[in-house]
Amino acid sequence: MKAILRKIYHFVLALIYCGDKYECPCCGRKFRKLRVINNNKNGRKGACWYCGSYERTRSYKLYLADFISHLDHKIKFLHIAPEEQLFQFLSNNGSIDYTAGDKRMEGYHYPKSVVDVDILHLPFEDSSFDFVMCSHVLEHIKDDKTAIAELNRVLKSGGMGIIQVPLDDKLDITDEEGFDENLTPAQRLARFGQFDHVKMYGKDFFDRLRQGGFEVEQFVFPHSVRERYGLNDDEPITVVYKH
Ligand SMILES: [Zn+2]
Repeated sequence: MKAILRKIYHFVLALIYCGDKYECPCCGRKFRKLRVINNNKNGRKGACWYCGSYERTRSYKLYLADFISHLDHKIKFLHIAPEEQLFQFLSNNGSIDYTAGDKRMEGYHYPKSVVDVDILHLPFEDSSFDFVMCSHVLEHIKDDKTAIAELNRVLKSGGMGIIQVPLDDKLDITDEEGFDENLTPAQRLARFGQFDHVKMYGKDFFDRLRQGGFEVEQFVFPHSVRERYGLNDDEPITVVYKH
């Protein structure tokens, strides 16, 4: 019942704010403005009124739709902590063999097909996937070195992926909770911006990926695309490759 009411509520909001300035590539709806999140700080443009997609999720949808459209064979795709707006698109896509994994936690709802995984011990053989997608997960993990090594291990040689984190580009070195520290949710919120984050990444994030065996590239959509789909100007997609 709650889910149906929520759907109606978002449907009404989408009607109220419909227009032609922004287009959501996740649900296909168009709006004259987007829903403000956190005062739209740090280059944010806002969330979709209908499906709730954030800027980064819309950028992934555009990137992945284009990537998948150019595939000439079926690939194995691993999606850690799948975004709701991408799950539907990817899980029903005939061009990929899709596996979604998440650490199941109480109080959250997960589609049945989502595998319970611990990113520090991924339950997959070495070189299992052609593409790994892992966005806004590592900032929750103290031992991100092991998590990055795991993502690299399950990726095939010649494979690629997206590994994205919230990043403060004014920081050279990541500020993180030490292994022997045990901060409270309030302390984490104050220091890292969210109650369950254990680090705020700085520019050394890319070195961490490289040390984990990845080649790293920053992908930026053209200005006109960022404007049309309401993408964040300050949030390039971090694309990784394994040779
Ligand atoms: Zn949408």
